[in-house]
Amino acid sequence: MHQLQGYATCCQQPLVTRYHLSANKQDIAHNVYNMWRYATMLPVLNPDNIVSLNEGWTPIHSLQKIQQRFGRQVLLKDESVNPTGSFKARGISVAVSKAKELGVTHCIIPTAGNAGGALSAYCAKAGIKATVIMPRITPVTLQEECRMYGAELILVDGLINACGKLARQMVEETGAFDMSTLKEPYRLEGKKTIGYELAEQLQWQLPDVIIYPTGGGTGLIGMWKAFREMQQLGWITGKLPRMVVIQTQNCAPMIQLFEQGKIAPGFQAIPTMAYGLAVPEPFAKDMMLEVLHHSDGAALTVTEDEIENGMQEMAATEGLLLSPEGSATYEGLKKLIEKDWIHQDETALLFNTGAWYKYR
Ligand SMILES: *Cc1c(COP(=O)(O)O)cnc(C)c1O
Repeated sequence: MHQLQGYATCCQQPLVTRYHLSANKQDIAHNVYNMWRYATMLPVLNPDNIVSLNEGWTPIHSLQKIQQRFGRQVLLKDESVNPTGSFKARGISVAVSKAKELGVTHCIIPTAGNAGGALSAYCAKAGIKATVIMPRITPVTLQEECRMYGAELILVDGLINACGKLARQMVEETGAFDMSTLKEPYRLEGKKTIGYELAEQLQWQLPDVIIYPTGGGTGLIGMWKAFREMQQLGWITGKLPRMVVIQTQNCAPMIQLFEQGKIAPGFQAIPTMAYGLAVPEPFAKDMMLEVLHHSDGAALTVTEDEIENGMQEMAATEGLLLSPEGSATYEGLKKLIEKDWIHQDETALLFNTGAWYKYR
């Protein structure tokens, strides 16, 4: 394990799992109605080590009224119904399972909120100690759930990058396992199941455009990894979706990087109600940029007011309560349609990544 960690840090780039790919669609566990139906594409060797709370296999809504209004087919994958109320459950389920398999007894995570709750729950189930480091400004619900799951909770002034600094220090001191976004390779594998699920649920026809609320980038990179694996396996053919990164005007390092080729040295982030997107220094920024370039994608921001407005609109028209991050994808969609970046005959897919209820 230490070798793995050392490798990841020495290169200052994320470590990625590769497989000898040979599975066919019959290898999907069709009677398992959670993301472990794709266990054949996941890194846990002994099924006894799987720590699952039935994450994944989430619904895709067809947004009829939005569609009528904008004249484009619009789908929404609702990740808010995952255990612990966000799609962080997917990555953490695989990462904790693999940690258990490797004999880890203590995990540390810096988090904007949802990853901490997920780690706390899965570690509780696995019998592994969890330490969660979170910005002090995080909504109380997100703090309280960690305590309920029995985790040690540490509150820090600043955003997730400040939490990350303390986490690295504690990892050094305690020898605990670092569960930071993309500092270990298995959360990415869990997030990648979104890509497999999208393909299977849409009869192996991916949408033209995927709009993703981006923080650390695990979901974006994970989906793209899944698409490439499925291409290699021959499960999908044709053009891959154009991937869109949505961030908030308060914290948009990826938009800077995409538009200007670099993140300005004095880059400052302001807190946003979309806590999951408040990642000022994403470790995997180069990998995200690659996905944007390879997919002919786009990157854009939305404001706090737009996010608020989007939540209201989607709730009142489609009956769906979105997290601020989810609302950001809807607001992004409107801008892309306005610019005609999404054409009349194209299908766009939005993500609701978390549960509105957690942000009160
Ligand atoms: C973490 C999080 C995000 C950002 O996800 P990444 O894959 O890390 O970019 C978006 N929305 C919510 C609700 C989150 O918790």
